[in-house]
Amino acid sequence: MKRAFSLVEVLCVIAVATTLAAITYPVFVQIRRSSHKSTCIANLHQQGLAIGIYRIQCEGSDSGTPAQMGLPPYALVSSLVEGHLRCQGTTENASAPGYHFTWPDPGTSDSTEKFWSKFVSRYGTSTVLIFDPNHQPSAGPRSEQWGMWSVLGVRLDTSVEQKTHRGYPHTLWWWQ
Ligand SMILES: [Zn+2]
Repeated sequence: MKRAFSLVEVLCVIAVATTLAAITYPVFVQIRRSSHKSTCIANLHQQGLAIGIYRIQCEGSDSGTPAQMGLPPYALVSSLVEGHLRCQGTTENASAPGYHFTWPDPGTSDSTEKFWSKFVSRYGTSTVLIFDPNHQPSAGPRSEQWGMWSVLGVRLDTSVEQKTHRGYPHTLWWWQ
């Protein structure tokens, strides 16, 4: 005789399925996050290489103003990056999506250019060119509320690293 499932059996199956979903969901979220981060690391590295090639062609020096260093015009890089190579699909830091540039737009102000020159002369090839503040370590209340930021950055030597530190990554000193 063919026997139907009892209510208890159906409830057991639902309970097991729900438990499995609850266990695996955070794993999928973690995988999605880490693959998104890998994309950003690759993007930042590409940008570092492109800027490096541009600087070689412009015979830029290792220190000085952005123009003396052969850095590409700010508007050119920002339109390229914002159009194609920005941090995509993140809601982790809605106030600062995309990538951020550390070198000043040429001709904006003498003091920002002087500040940049000072930074470069001190940190040389480990000066950070572009950073991505959209990869906080966990969801939920933003870590910046406690002053901690976890940020990806590409340096002048094209190395990409993630740095977690107290303070505000928009100040160049944060990266030392
Ligand atoms: Zn990103």
